[in-house]
Amino acid sequence: MQVFDPQTIPVPAGHFIGGRLVTDAGRIPVRRPSDNRVHAELPLADAATVDAAVQDAWRALRTSDWARRAPRERARVLRRWADLIEADVRGLAPLEAVCSTRPVRDAGAGDVPFTAEGLRFFAEYADKLGGDVAATRPDHLGMVVAEPYGVVGAITPWNFPLVMVSWKVGAALAAGNAVVLKPSELTPFSAVRLAELAIEAGVPPGMFNVVQGDGQTTGDALTRHPLVAKMTFTGSTRTGASIMAACAVHGPKPVTLELGGKSAQLVFDDAPDLDRLAGIIAGAITGNAGQVCVAGSRLIVQRGVAEALVERIVARFAALRPGATWDDATTLAPIISAGQASRILDIVERSRQTGAELRCGGGLFDGGPGGAYFQPTLISGVAADNAAVQEEIFGPVLTVQTFGDEEEGLELAGHANYGLAAGVHTADIGRALRAMRGISAGTVWINRYGRSADFVIPTGGYHQSGIGKDLGRQAVEANLRFKSVLIDFSEPR
Ligand code: ADP
Repeated sequence: MQVFDPQTIPVPAGHFIGGRLVTDAGRIPVRRPSDNRVHAELPLADAATVDAAVQDAWRALRTSDWARRAPRERARVLRRWADLIEADVRGLAPLEAVCSTRPVRDAGAGDVPFTAEGLRFFAEYADKLGGDVAATRPDHLGMVVAEPYGVVGAITPWNFPLVMVSWKVGAALAAGNAVVLKPSELTPFSAVRLAELAIEAGVPPGMFNVVQGDGQTTGDALTRHPLVAKMTFTGSTRTGASIMAACAVHGPKPVTLELGGKSAQLVFDDAPDLDRLAGIIAGAITGNAGQVCVAGSRLIVQRGVAEALVERIVARFAALRPGATWDDATTLAPIISAGQASRILDIVERSRQTGAELRCGGGLFDGGPGGAYFQPTLISGVAADNAAVQEEIFGPVLTVQTFGDEEEGLELAGHANYGLAAGVHTADIGRALRAMRGISAGTVWINRYGRSADFVIPTGGYHQSGIGKDLGRQAVEANLRFKSVLIDFSEPR
């Protein structure tokens, strides 16, 4: 059933600077992935507009009362903001869904409340990380004082537009920074609505500004801006590396990067409940149609259970229903763009040419409302150097490799470049913990897959999967710098 009519969803197609929507002639067409139609046009912030947004944030930081407010008052404003977001779920969920891959049902039940609760989590840190008293000589007092950086620049991707913004902006604001955000040009609108609600909650104008545009012009101008003291980014490894290079030259300034992944699901033959496990593994590669940085895209399974597990996963895949994000029966999201769909096809094709066996899927669904819907795909018989095993696909494509003993399984679970996350499934606690130690990744889930909704466990990668953490205390700390103070109170001699 259609939950909303996409034609009727108005979008705030502008920047948000100094507490108001700044419209400008549109230049970037924003398409709906569900039907590939252009929904609106987006203005593109050039260096001058980015400069205006950053200067405004800098002014807000120095002249608004945000920085002077007691941290608990900042926390209260952030909590009020979270309440307004939750109260606006009927507006926010369709706004999120219309131009993204997030089915409206998931956006309403998951992304919107998740965004609000994430802000509440960060609010709790507003008065918790003041610094330390240092052990120094008894007639001196040494202090390490936590201070915000100033203006933080944030660049977010298209796969979970609201949630990604809340992680970046929540941590930065709770630490006392101002933020200038550039959301993905593919999914730019819900961030503006968040910024409007922030003003309503009492965040002073300018503390959270949004600039719209592409990476090369707008994102690059933001990264280079001399008043942006720190950058935080989530997206592809290639773009992250170029942002880091720009931060080195135009600073140097610190950078938090949450990048790509090729995460393993390591299954031993004593793993309990294969039916439940098949559901976990299928869900971890078909949720948001696999367009998730921590997608579990490589199944590494011990031979004894391989066939039984694969059969069950294929059955789960077959039960998924592709559909528009505005249809509440949709259980398989569209691919974000036609270009991305052909990239997925290309990797699957190259994988087949080098000997892989296609167990199901392998192409686009026929028909449908005009968007690209990729069939959940399972590829077996692949060697470690196969394209589908090596490259991040960002689609619903799972490769299967089998192993004999623990050592071989651990060897296959590692990846030459990425180290974002992994799942380990076994009834043997010793084996699970050995695997946890042995896998070089920023997150290891044991007998489950995916983040829990309590925000306290940080997320971030090893190797080419990133630097630093989102979520957890670590995310707030990454938005603080530390001033050393030494006071001599010895009696004058
Ligand atoms: P994808 O290719 O999946 O869209 P990207 O990593 O390229 O992922 O994009 C993530 C975000 O980074 C988007 O907001 C995009 O506009 C931005 N971006 C892309 N290139 C650059 C760049 N050179 N500098 C700054 N931001 C960029």
